[in-house]
Amino acid sequence: MLLLDPDDTDAAPFWQGTAHGELLVQACAACGRRRMPPRPMCFACRSLQHTWQKLSGRGTIWSFVVAHPPLLPAYQALAPYNVVTVALDEDPQVRLVGNLVARADGPINEIDPASLRIGEAVRVVFQQVDDVFLPRWMRA
Ligand SMILES: [Zn+2]
Repeated sequence: MLLLDPDDTDAAPFWQGTAHGELLVQACAACGRRRMPPRPMCFACRSLQHTWQKLSGRGTIWSFVVAHPPLLPAYQALAPYNVVTVALDEDPQVRLVGNLVARADGPINEIDPASLRIGEAVRVVFQQVDDVFLPRWMRA
């Protein structure tokens, strides 16, 4: 139902972090550039060495869309719902795609789509969906 790849070993530390309420971002051990999504090689210097950094989970809405049918069956009943791209405060070049929610355990279609604004300050929350904890966003 969810479009996740549980066998993606590059991303495993990211999902272990979300399960513990932490937003971990991969960073190059050679040049320090952060990257999302996780991947084996640095896009800047091609180093294969990396570390994981715990970030604050604060950011701003960089862009968003409002999803309407036709959608995949698992998402059909939730429409219309928002999908936001969040630029992280520590590194606005690192952006995560998620949903803006009104409560830490709230559904993804609870916010009035007409109220979304680019540049709004948000903070991460983690919602368990099936066996993963998804990063989602609340207004800060
Ligand atoms: Zn690098």
